[in-house]
Amino acid sequence: MGQHTSGTHHHGYVEDAPLNQAMSAHERLSRLDAVEILHTPDEVAQWLASTLRAAMGKSEDEVAFEDEWDQWVKYAHSGETITTGLLRGPTISAVSVPEADCRCASTPLVPVGGKKRSR
Ligand SMILES: [Zn+2]
Repeated sequence: MGQHTSGTHHHGYVEDAPLNQAMSAHERLSRLDAVEILHTPDEVAQWLASTLRAAMGKSEDEVAFEDEWDQWVKYAHSGETITTGLLRGPTISAVSVPEADCRCASTPLVPVGGKKRSR
């Protein structure tokens, strides 16, 4: 963990719109909140598979995404943005983010339910 081989990582976005009406990757970055921060190609593939499955209402036994998985890992590894999803939505994307353009490293997400501390 914590090993960065490349200068990018991925942010996972789920947009409640069909692919042809979805925002561009660039718009997404500035307008949507990432639902997931993905640091390795494996995490990217895992997240895409489970999010797609949830959207389809299928179990892991029903859809394995074996062919897609290899593609996703390959794309994620080369720092590309991956967009997938269902015909009528949602659009699911793992957007490649250069470390320099990302605020998640400098301002870690506050855990849900975390208490605010006064100083
Ligand atoms: Zn980030």
